[in-house]
Amino acid sequence: MARAHKYDVIVVGAGGAGLMAARYAAQHPGVSVAVISKLYPTRSHTGAAQGGVGAALGNVSEDHPEWHAFDTIKGGDYLTDQDVAEMFAHEVVEAVYELEHMGLPFSRTPDGKIAQRKFGGHTREFGKSAVERACYAADRTGHMILQTLYQQSIKDNVVFFNEFHVLDILIEGGECVGVVAYELATGQLHTFHAKATVIASGGNGRMFKVTSNAHALTGDLMSVVYRRGIPLEDPEFYQFHPTGLYKIGVLLTEGARGEGGILRNKDGERFMERYAPTIKDLAPRDMVSRAMYMEIREGRGAGPDNDYIHLDLTHIDAHIIETRLPDITEFARIYLGVDPVKELVPIQPTAHYAMGGIPTTINTEVIRDGDNTIVPGLYAAGEVACASLHGANRLGTNSLGDLIVFGRRAGIYAARYAAETSYKDLPRDEQDFSRALIDRALNGPGWERVSRIRQDLQESMQDNASVFRTEETLTKQVEVLKELKERYQKIGVEDQGEQYNTELMEALELGFLLDNAEALVHAALNRKESRGAHSREDFKERDDEAWLKHTLVYKDGEGVRIDYKPVTLGKYEPKPRVY
Ligand SMILES: Cc1cc2nc3c(=O)[nH]c(=O)nc-3n(C[C@H](O)[C@H](O)[C@H](O)COP(=O)(O)OP(=O)(O)OC[C@H]3O[C@@H](n4cnc5c(N)ncnc54)[C@H](O)[C@@H]3O)c2cc1C
Repeated sequence: MARAHKYDVIVVGAGGAGLMAARYAAQHPGVSVAVISKLYPTRSHTGAAQGGVGAALGNVSEDHPEWHAFDTIKGGDYLTDQDVAEMFAHEVVEAVYELEHMGLPFSRTPDGKIAQRKFGGHTREFGKSAVERACYAADRTGHMILQTLYQQSIKDNVVFFNEFHVLDILIEGGECVGVVAYELATGQLHTFHAKATVIASGGNGRMFKVTSNAHALTGDLMSVVYRRGIPLEDPEFYQFHPTGLYKIGVLLTEGARGEGGILRNKDGERFMERYAPTIKDLAPRDMVSRAMYMEIREGRGAGPDNDYIHLDLTHIDAHIIETRLPDITEFARIYLGVDPVKELVPIQPTAHYAMGGIPTTINTEVIRDGDNTIVPGLYAAGEVACASLHGANRLGTNSLGDLIVFGRRAGIYAARYAAETSYKDLPRDEQDFSRALIDRALNGPGWERVSRIRQDLQESMQDNASVFRTEETLTKQVEVLKELKERYQKIGVEDQGEQYNTELMEALELGFLLDNAEALVHAALNRKESRGAHSREDFKERDDEAWLKHTLVYKDGEGVRIDYKPVTLGKYEPKPRVY
């Protein structure tokens, strides 16, 4: 295969955001589009999404985009950019109908409309009670989105480079002109020359020990842009989903609580009544995860070690459980040997979603500073990006919405830009940086093992930088990361082969994860308040006076530099969050 490629638009990532972007770019007359993905497209994590995509269709009860926008802003603890939330809540309605027209097999109401159910933080009339807003296809919504979009992309003649790992983006004269990728099957580097590049490479949950995220979610492109001088926005806001299977972290969708599931402590008490009297178990995830840990700390956790919580579905009609939540029911049976129809399911919070990421404008253009200076030719969408729709805490179902709304925007804007511009020159020796990364791993001394460093990273992040944080734990984690980075310099890869060298790729992915952890921990140490998913035990209150601003973390030599960007406010004044 040739190792130099030229496409008007290159999309990195074949999850929901990448495929949506590719489809839309391909519909622009005369624009050629290729997708590069380290996984086969339908193995992307979007396929694991269960519960639904939120849109105010009002099919089950009255609903309005305005209510959805408000819930998103309040759910994000007012760090959400309000213009973004308003746009999103309106466009996601259109985008869901589009998915329906592409053939996505949504579950249906008795009268044939797209079925909708309740989800955390989604309310009617600005917080009065929970509302049915999540459009779903049983508990396989993401799977259906991914299959549908993949079929459509094939129909639209998008070209796919599967099992190609992007290791670097090419910036020349301040503009993005393409990427360099490693072909897993042959061990060769390929240069992709592009007029516009869309990054849609998903999240980074693998830096934590207990996570719902697939193994491939190692934040590669967050690290790649960070190494190239582009900051990461709000990385300290990392979401823990309340209902992961005990010890293994496999997710049980919030849709389980949407269908009436209840969280109980060891005494059988429905403790969320004390923390969120109005919407109880359907409070936003940050609040529920914290409440669970409080119960455990105060000795009310279940099990022999009092270290988990019960999810109770036993009062729900077995037919509803089997038809609307078939996959998660199976997960509980297979992994824990527990039958949710008859028994309580042991759960604990699991690392789930990065609210922060590569900073973009509302139109998905990547920006490089607090003045919103655009990097021409570079776009980002999906979990890797930060627009910022989710602020300090994402509401359930708003990520799938994010993929289709911002994926579509990325495709449209990237194609438009590509159609108007000509190819810029590539940098000289454009593969050197990637070649050096690979050589260092292949020829390293091998005194340190990749799997050990990764385990130490995951355990220490879980202990020091997860649901609760303090100056002490974060300072400790800064030191731990320094040490891990030093150890990383001493790794070596045993497999020197060129075909399917997954050991080499895992080594490079660990390097990416370490950068992601560094940005998160420094930002968390710097932010001296509690807001959304960032909970400081030494600064328990939200402090709008000092901290109603976005963080931008830059790589600066061996350390980091922190800057800020204002939050775009709108009609909703920041208020205390009560549910
Ligand atoms: C178990 C689970 C359940 C969820 N349920 C819901 C839900 O019900 N509702 C909801 O709104 N959200 C849900 N989420 C969140 C949501 O699914 C994800 O945030 C979203 O799917 C991310 O989509 P994406 O397109 O950004 O990335 P992904 O789907 O993760 O795709 C990333 C793509 O990037 C590619 N890639 C990554 N690195 C590289 C590289 N270096 N080179 C080349 N390619 C690369 C991968 O191959 C992949 O194709 C869930 C998440 C999980 C983990």
